[in-house]
Amino acid sequence: MKIGIDAGGTLIKVVTEMNNERTYKKWLTTEIDQVAEWLSQLDNVDISITGGKAQYLDSLIKHNVKRSIEFDATYKGIQLFLEENDIHLNTYIFSNVGTGTSIHYATTHNQERAGGTGAGGGMIQGLGYLLTQISDYDELVQTALNGNRDKIDLKVKHIYKDDKTPISGDLTAANFGHVLQHINEDFPNSDRLAAVMGIVGETVTTVSIHAARQFKTENVVFIGSSFINNELLKNIVVDYTVLRGLNPYFIENGEFSGALGSIYC
Ligand code: ADP
Repeated sequence: MKIGIDAGGTLIKVVTEMNNERTYKKWLTTEIDQVAEWLSQLDNVDISITGGKAQYLDSLIKHNVKRSIEFDATYKGIQLFLEENDIHLNTYIFSNVGTGTSIHYATTHNQERAGGTGAGGGMIQGLGYLLTQISDYDELVQTALNGNRDKIDLKVKHIYKDDKTPISGDLTAANFGHVLQHINEDFPNSDRLAAVMGIVGETVTTVSIHAARQFKTENVVFIGSSFINNELLKNIVVDYTVLRGLNPYFIENGEFSGALGSIYC
């Protein structure tokens, strides 16, 4: 059995492959000792580990493990997923929206890092908690689904009112910039969390679009567990990417790219 592990800042992604069958499993990074215990019970396994917590996990287990560079493992995994899904891209940007967001330019041969932003899944959880006291991930993303950003985010058309806008009036002019104009109104948790998805989704997309322009590609592949059960974030990213004239791609199990790729690096 082959086991590929991406031990990240928030989640540990585990891919196992045996007899042409693949399974996917996630653990919280706070459960890293349990993952080590599980691995320690296994014999005749090839273990590959990548990610920020790879060194620590390696130190907890008896096996000889193969270690790989996270960015290369992620690229390798994405290439495999794209091929399996019959998606053929000569060049693309991939945006890995994990705890933080890392952005890369990829060709059919290799990847190079193109940038990143601290806006990502960690911001969704942390800022989301500060604004609503909700710490449960599923509750957070479900609550956001019913939210409305109108009273929180200032759009270009709000500034220009009846005047002609120089850019699309529906673009966000200032995330959270509309709040003080509704100071005597209520801001339900759903609205607050929708606005959190807004700032994260728009920031991630903006940085990705700039990278795509810099490297002259029209394709952006979005991966990372921040999209799990988070339809709102996905919609914001898709709409904004399309609005800017680029092609967004999501791949099933894309958040396991690093774990899968580590097996094949
Ligand atoms: P990392 O490799 O940095 O751990 P991931 O790609 O695994 O990054 O994404 C982590 C993000 O995924 C979290 O910040 C959170 O927004 C989101 N997430 C999805 N499912 C969960 C979950 N069950 N528990 C906590 N966070 C989750």
